[in-house]
Amino acid sequence: MATLLDRLKIPFETREKISVKSISEENLIESLLAYDPKIETRLYKALAQQSNSPFIRLDGKEIQENCFCGMPEALLKLHRMIPFKIVENNLHIAFENPYLIRQYEDLKLYHSGKIISYVATRSEILQRIEKYYRKDDIEKLYKKPGYKIAEEKEEIYHTDDPTVRLVNSFIAKGIHENASDIHIEPKENHLIIRFRINGDMYQYDRLEKETLSKISVRIKVMGDMSITDSRKCQDGKFEFMLEEDSLQKIDIRVSIIPTIFGEKFALRILNRHNISLKLNELGFTAGQLINIQNLLQYSSGMVLCCGPTGSGKSTTLYAMIQGMKHKNLNITSVEDPVEYKIPAINQILVNEKANITFANTLKYVLRQDPDVIMIGEIRDKETVDLAIRASITGHLVLSTLHTKNATSTITRLLDMGVEPYYINAALGGVIAQRLVRKICSHCKTNYRVTKEESRIFMDIDHKQLYCGTGCELCNYSGYQERILVSEVLVLTDAVKTLILKGFNQEKFKLELKKIHNDSLQMNCRKLLLQGIIPLEEYKRFLFLDNHQ
Ligand SMILES: [Zn+2]
Repeated sequence: MATLLDRLKIPFETREKISVKSISEENLIESLLAYDPKIETRLYKALAQQSNSPFIRLDGKEIQENCFCGMPEALLKLHRMIPFKIVENNLHIAFENPYLIRQYEDLKLYHSGKIISYVATRSEILQRIEKYYRKDDIEKLYKKPGYKIAEEKEEIYHTDDPTVRLVNSFIAKGIHENASDIHIEPKENHLIIRFRINGDMYQYDRLEKETLSKISVRIKVMGDMSITDSRKCQDGKFEFMLEEDSLQKIDIRVSIIPTIFGEKFALRILNRHNISLKLNELGFTAGQLINIQNLLQYSSGMVLCCGPTGSGKSTTLYAMIQGMKHKNLNITSVEDPVEYKIPAINQILVNEKANITFANTLKYVLRQDPDVIMIGEIRDKETVDLAIRASITGHLVLSTLHTKNATSTITRLLDMGVEPYYINAALGGVIAQRLVRKICSHCKTNYRVTKEESRIFMDIDHKQLYCGTGCELCNYSGYQERILVSEVLVLTDAVKTLILKGFNQEKFKLELKKIHNDSLQMNCRKLLLQGIIPLEEYKRFLFLDNHQ
């Protein structure tokens, strides 16, 4: 059988120069291209002959959209390959080097049928990949506007196992895109990977259904979960190493629920370092900041931060703690999960399996007489009782409650069976918060409000509102970043009197309105009228505030 060098008719005297160290086909291609760049077409034609794959020119060749099967750009660039058509589940792909086993293994993750290989030149393959993934073509690939592809790091793929490479790549991608969660969702015939970015879900990838079992095993191994069990809900966590300019460790929390089409995974990305932990940088108003600082001055009492998941309430809690560090206090936290590691405080991680629950741990923590106790979340009566006892016996207690606003926090405590007298004695104040999407500053425009909209949503005669029309910078969503909307309710004597009356939620809300003018709804409405958020976002806020 003729070698590649024979086919190219490379003279014997030059062979030594280029090929002595080129043991593999891969190295040989590099050496030959370095020896004579003009050889390219002849080289790949020879490679095609040798491998019995047809040689094709990609210039001007039509590339079918549906043949990409969701393959990421970095993968195609790494193996220098590009699919161009799919016929009866046979995927036709042009490779630079048809001999690499690894590329076929990676392809199996995206395509379960047969692969028909061709050979094309490196420059043509790279050109076509570039052209296909051009930013204005992005909707073709993901079918969902609002998602942008950033530069991918090839190193992510540099491990031998294709499943490991795949899982690493979408976790790294999620971190780059600032996603808070990555969801792996099995459907009837395929698998979808979605990111939650700024509160909204975006589809990132679509994979073959067969990939699920491999991804499942990989994530379970990382998260120290049971591999054999695929019909149970499971929790786990692992540390993900991200190699950027420096090595970063990122905590990932995993939860699995079995759906009718298989296991659905949610990976929560924790410990992100780009979040401000300074209270005055989170977006509270000057008045609210003064109120919060006052609440933290006391050496006892309880401050509760509330809001739905993803409203930034634990960030506020950490910022409050962070601001206290310099005071030489004994600060202990009981958390689930530990979202940020703060060296100056003693952080304890709840572990239900090992019977380290919030309530159990708190009992022991109290024996060590800490000045400040942070409780990740109050979920049950036992924990709330302990928290109240701690806060009326000389400890400052900071915690979160999963409620929608300050009013419902008070009524939730009453519903949990806490006596109004104890609420008044223990609770210093409640911070309620939400993150709402801001109008993109690049495509912001004003418009006349209809009478109907004005009547329903604004109560007053306000004729102009703003919205984003969509531009390249906001991926045609009209939104850009999020802003905090918050309320701070201090338990003044007037509020305490109201709590003692034991009103139901509606009546309490109504009465509170008369003495407290810092509600979430009012503040969100201010953002609307100031042209910071659009009406659409305000409606969404109202819906959640009333129905959740
Ligand atoms: Zn825009």
